[in-house]
Amino acid sequence: MFAKLFSPVRIGSIELANRIVSTGHDTVMAEEGHVTDRLIAYHQARAEGGAGLIVVQVSGVHETARYTSHMLMATSDDAIPGYTRLAQAVQAHGTRIFGQLFHPGREIMETDDGTAAIAYAPSAVPNSRFRVMPIPLSLNLIAEIVQGYADSAARLQRAGFDGCEIVASHGYLPAQFLNPAVNLRDDDYGGPLANRMRFLVEIAAAIRHATGPDFAISLRLSGDERDVEALDQSETVAVCRHLDTAGLVDCFHVTAGNSASLSGAIHIVPPMFYAAGYTAPLAAQVKAAVGRPVIVTGRINQPQEAEAILAAGHADLCGMTRAMICDPEMPAKARAGAPDRIRACIGCNQACIGHFHRGYPISCIQFPESGRETTLAPRKTRTATPRRILIAGAGPAGLKAAAVLAARGHAVTLCEAGPQAGGQALLAQLLPGRAEFGGIVTNLLREVREAGVTLRLNTPVTAELVAAEAPDRVILATGARPRAPAIETEGAHVLDAWAVLRGEGNPGSRVVIADWRGDWIGMGLAEKLARDGCSVRLFVEGIAPGETLPFYVRDEMAARLHRLGVEIRPYARLFGADSDSVYFTHSASGDAIVAEAVDTLVLAQGHDSNRDLAAALAGWPGRVEIIGDALTPRSAEDAVLEGLKCGIQD
Ligand code: SF4
Repeated sequence: MFAKLFSPVRIGSIELANRIVSTGHDTVMAEEGHVTDRLIAYHQARAEGGAGLIVVQVSGVHETARYTSHMLMATSDDAIPGYTRLAQAVQAHGTRIFGQLFHPGREIMETDDGTAAIAYAPSAVPNSRFRVMPIPLSLNLIAEIVQGYADSAARLQRAGFDGCEIVASHGYLPAQFLNPAVNLRDDDYGGPLANRMRFLVEIAAAIRHATGPDFAISLRLSGDERDVEALDQSETVAVCRHLDTAGLVDCFHVTAGNSASLSGAIHIVPPMFYAAGYTAPLAAQVKAAVGRPVIVTGRINQPQEAEAILAAGHADLCGMTRAMICDPEMPAKARAGAPDRIRACIGCNQACIGHFHRGYPISCIQFPESGRETTLAPRKTRTATPRRILIAGAGPAGLKAAAVLAARGHAVTLCEAGPQAGGQALLAQLLPGRAEFGGIVTNLLREVREAGVTLRLNTPVTAELVAAEAPDRVILATGARPRAPAIETEGAHVLDAWAVLRGEGNPGSRVVIADWRGDWIGMGLAEKLARDGCSVRLFVEGIAPGETLPFYVRDEMAARLHRLGVEIRPYARLFGADSDSVYFTHSASGDAIVAEAVDTLVLAQGHDSNRDLAAALAGWPGRVEIIGDALTPRSAEDAVLEGLKCGIQD
């Protein structure tokens, strides 16, 4: 099983035990530019789980390279002790380690003190996503930055790293030099391709000169930047061919996307709307042009997908980063012939890249132990005082709490009032393009089974049941109900979002959705109804639809709504409805907004917690806890994390 994936491969003089790569990704675990214990523990978990190669997140090569306040910097020897501890922790498990060398050019995201970012780029061409106007690089500064790449690579080498990766993907500085839409220079670094690739060639040559032939050099490029100002794909291949012939790099790493635009940035971490391994044809183009190994990255979540890409000859190694954020033991499980035990990533982007965009350490919606290797994960120890625990509600919070408590040695009974476990995740998977979201239920149910939980469906927990079972501890994960706002709707046809999702009620052909929470429900329903042929207007109370969603999910959903002709109105606070109109007030000005010619008002107004059982158990003397939506409306991520926190307590 997975013979190709688990066959060794060489990158330069470095041999990897298998072809599974944890690619460079920001973790928000660096502090003041340095490696932390938390970052080491995070990567150590992936090495223990069997990754062949870990490429550590970007390290800035020059002071002008600081693109976030929480990145690594390889600009000083002070960084070497931290890198050394990281390298040793990863290599102790037979995993190889590379470090990414990085300069963002004009793709500056933030400063650490709130001042306007100063960006340097080949030319003064603004960035449309971060709205930065860069300063053109002087020749002296170009030379300084090239030397910065070489010095940084040498520091990684002194720290014991096996290699480095030049980040020329996603429109970062080396790609900006390559791209004639962004590089308008008329000196030796602009004009014909031979000039535009000069910066990259100088970087690779300087690194090789500084580190010698045994330190592996990978080059990461976007095979397709998916932007109106994108690099020409044939030129990208020509650049790879040139560096291959010159022997300046040891492998090529092909991905997609461009940080400079919303349409391109989605492909940095493609959400679930994209097919598994959709970038493989891009890698195949590069592979056909070069004689060195090619890594491909792009939503390769399962070993079966990786094996198929390798077997087809599209690439030599597969980047499977989120697959290992979600399940660090993915390689070991695949190698053991147990792929069914893998907790498959669902491409939701909520806790991995979603956390990065909010500036806090990455994790996983399904496996909150990720990123918490030094805090919560070590507390999943066997209990010294086993108890009988009754959990009411088999949504994500109840499932996670049950699995953790039972794995720790408690006797757990999990009761679900309905015929199916899963809670609101069952509804989320009904939306267009989100069928994979149901994977969270599949995965949690498997963990519940493996831990030995007794699961009872169609079993509402009542005060009588609690009295009869007499558990030591009751955990209420009873979820929430749709919130019905106190507004006048006389004569109006009003449906709740959940009911529409379940196919209950006829929304007619002219629908207004009133979205209060700004999550997946409003946008997802708008898409579903538009696809069903309805004319849809989406009124959101905040400044934009999907405000609470991870950027890359939100932006993709916004693109889909745009294509379907859904009208979006922000700042709209629901006021009332009648037989053919819905009334809003502008949430900033208070002015009236009227939507006329409406068949149905669909309410996506959030949820009210269901704590009926808590009230019924008020006099019960045992220990009662409330988690998940039953405590206060939660995202699936919040609910699973709360289940974990509940589960590690005795
Ligand atoms: Fe995958 Fe979602 Fe977990 Fe990210 S948060 S690793 S996309 S399941």
